[in-house]
Amino acid sequence: MIGFWRTIAQVILAFSIAQSATAHAPTSSAAAANPANDERTLRAFAAIHPIDVHVHIFKTDPGFQKMLEGLDLKLLNILVIDDTNPNRKQLLPQIEDAVALVRSSRGHIALCTSFDPYKFDGASFSTNAVKQLDRDFAQGAVAVKVWKNVGMEIKDRRGQYVMADDLRFEPIYKDIASHGKTLMTHQAEPDVAWGPPDANDPSWSYYQENPQWYVANRPGFPSKQRILDARDHVLANNPKLRMVGVHLGSMERDLDNIASHLDKYPNFAIDTAARMEYLMLMPPEKVSAFLIKYQDRVLYGTDLDLYADANLPDALTEWQSRYARDWKFLATGETLTVKAKQVRGLNLPQPVLQKIFRSNAIRWIPGL
Ligand SMILES: [Zn+2]
Repeated sequence: MIGFWRTIAQVILAFSIAQSATAHAPTSSAAAANPANDERTLRAFAAIHPIDVHVHIFKTDPGFQKMLEGLDLKLLNILVIDDTNPNRKQLLPQIEDAVALVRSSRGHIALCTSFDPYKFDGASFSTNAVKQLDRDFAQGAVAVKVWKNVGMEIKDRRGQYVMADDLRFEPIYKDIASHGKTLMTHQAEPDVAWGPPDANDPSWSYYQENPQWYVANRPGFPSKQRILDARDHVLANNPKLRMVGVHLGSMERDLDNIASHLDKYPNFAIDTAARMEYLMLMPPEKVSAFLIKYQDRVLYGTDLDLYADANLPDALTEWQSRYARDWKFLATGETLTVKAKQVRGLNLPQPVLQKIFRSNAIRWIPGL
C-alpha cells in the first residue's frame, strides 16, 4: 500500500512538473498544483471505500488494477453500442471483454451491460435482447444501459426518431425489473447541444470534438423535452424498475427540475457523471441544500474512460486528479478553480458523503 501512495505522489508530481514546463494553463481544477495535498485528499477519498458508478474501460492493466486497490475503489463499467465509435460498434465482443475484466479485477469492477437498440425493428428484437440480458445477468451484470442513440439517432421506417418509451423496449424494461437489476439511462444531452455555441459551458468542448451530437438548428430534430418526457414515461410505466438517470438525468442546469423528478418518481435516482462542473458553477448554498435533501438519491460517477490505446501514466494521472478534485469539492472547504472561477468546496457532512460516494450505489444497484 505504501508503494502505491509513493507511486501516486510520483505521478502527481510528474504531472505538475509537466504542467508548469509546458506552461499550459490548466483547463480545470484537475491540475495538481500541490501533490502532497492531492495525496492527502486521495487518502480521505479511499477511506470511504468509494464506488464510481460510471466509467468506460476497454483494457486490463496491472497498473490500473493497482490504482483501484490503492484507492479501495469499485467501478461500474458501462457498455454502450455506438455506431459512431469504432471501439463500441459491436456489443458481443464488448460483453466478452467486460466479463473477463470483471473476473480479473478481484471485486473492483462490475458490469453494466446493454442491448442493441439498432436492431429494434427486427421480428425477434425484444425476445433476443431479453435472452442476451439474462445471459449477462447470469454472468454477473448488475445493470443495463440505454444510451442517447435512443431518442437522438435511431429512426423507424417512417423516419421518426425512436424514443425510450417505444413499446418494443417495454419487454426489456420488464425483464430488467423482474431480475431486480437497474436501468441506467443516458437520455438527451446537455442543454448546450440544442443551443448556440457557448465556450463557457462545461460540455461545449465535447461538441467540438463530437459534432454528430450537436443538434442545434437541425430541422425536425426532437426537442430535449420530448426525449426526457419519453424517459419519464418509462419511469411512470415501470414503477418497479429502478432507474438511474446518468449525467444528472440530463437536467444539468436545473436542480429544481431534478428535485421535482425525484419527488414524483420514487424509482428514480441520478448520477453525477461528467456533470460535476455544472454543480461547481452553481450557487454553493443551493447545491449543498439539494445534496443534503436528496442525499439518498445521488450516486457518484465520473464518466472516466480507459481505451485500449490509452497511455497508462497519463490515464492514471487523469483518474486520480478527477477523484481528488471531486472529493475536494464535495468533502472539503478548499478552493478550486473551475472554468477560471474560484469555487469553494461544499464541505458536506460525513454521512452524506458516505451515501453519495458509496452506499447509494449499493442500494440503487444491488450486486455492486
Ligand atoms: Zn458515459
